[in-house]
Amino acid sequence: MNVRVYHGAALAAYGFGQGHPFGSDRLDAFWREVVKQGLDQRVTHGEPVMCTTEDLALFHTTEYIQRVQKQSVTGTGYLDQGDTPAFPGVFEAASCVVGSVLDGVKNIIEGHCTRVFVPIAGLHHARRDAASGFCVFNDIGVAIEALRQRHGIRRVAYVDIDAHHGDGVFYAFEDDPDLRFADIHEDGRYLYPGTGFANETGKGKAIGTKLNIPLEPGANDVAFQRVWPRVEEFVRAGRPEFIILQAGADSIAGDPITHLQLTPKAHAHATARLCALADEFCQGRIIGLGGGGYNRANLAAAWTAVVQAMLG
Ligand SMILES: [Zn+2]
Repeated sequence: MNVRVYHGAALAAYGFGQGHPFGSDRLDAFWREVVKQGLDQRVTHGEPVMCTTEDLALFHTTEYIQRVQKQSVTGTGYLDQGDTPAFPGVFEAASCVVGSVLDGVKNIIEGHCTRVFVPIAGLHHARRDAASGFCVFNDIGVAIEALRQRHGIRRVAYVDIDAHHGDGVFYAFEDDPDLRFADIHEDGRYLYPGTGFANETGKGKAIGTKLNIPLEPGANDVAFQRVWPRVEEFVRAGRPEFIILQAGADSIAGDPITHLQLTPKAHAHATARLCALADEFCQGRIIGLGGGGYNRANLAAAWTAVVQAMLG
């Protein structure tokens, strides 16, 4: 029982209402497939955990945390320019995403498991001081800061195969040489957030520690397999102590808001190879986060492929 998967109503609460691409039904769609494949019998269960404002402040500004708290009471307005609506309890729901990821990291560090998957997480667009693209709090950013400040881990590798560029992580750590960032995504000329070009390789002493690989709209598994070895080589060169995978399922053919044409085989391959690197460099330590994915069948298939690969 080496793999822990987080599941529970408090995680499903992070959603923007019925009919929204990021609806609360995403967790259920995933879990039904987990049960169908019998994976629930092969993993340990992680209960969602709410984080504290102190946890959030590892990454986010106090002003922004307070703004989300306020809008969570009224449940009105937007938390950004118009993509991410507030809803009653959004603060608690978003804090549960972060808390579950932090709990997963802690469980790994303390040796209770080596692999963790948190389906409703990987909210890679949120900035230190702002929401963006359905992302209120950036669980990845908080987790990286927690690894540094609480667990004494410096060298972290972050790999993102969501269709969208992980701009909230990229720009927050652009000048941080110990965060190896590798991101395969749909070319920013065709998709939100419009960033992540190949020449964005980091700043100052972090130049060369960021790898952005934009794919053309319509790119499939062949294109993915062609570029994937670069990611592996890049992660390996960083000799990471901990690996984070953002396994967004919106890169799979049939997603309603993107244009890539991958299959869950890409997610399985990325996970299996990163688990091998985790075994080689990090005592097996890897956390997978669900990320985007708005076609329910796709996210169920991709995320269970991640869990299967973690089980080996
Ligand atoms: Zn996405």
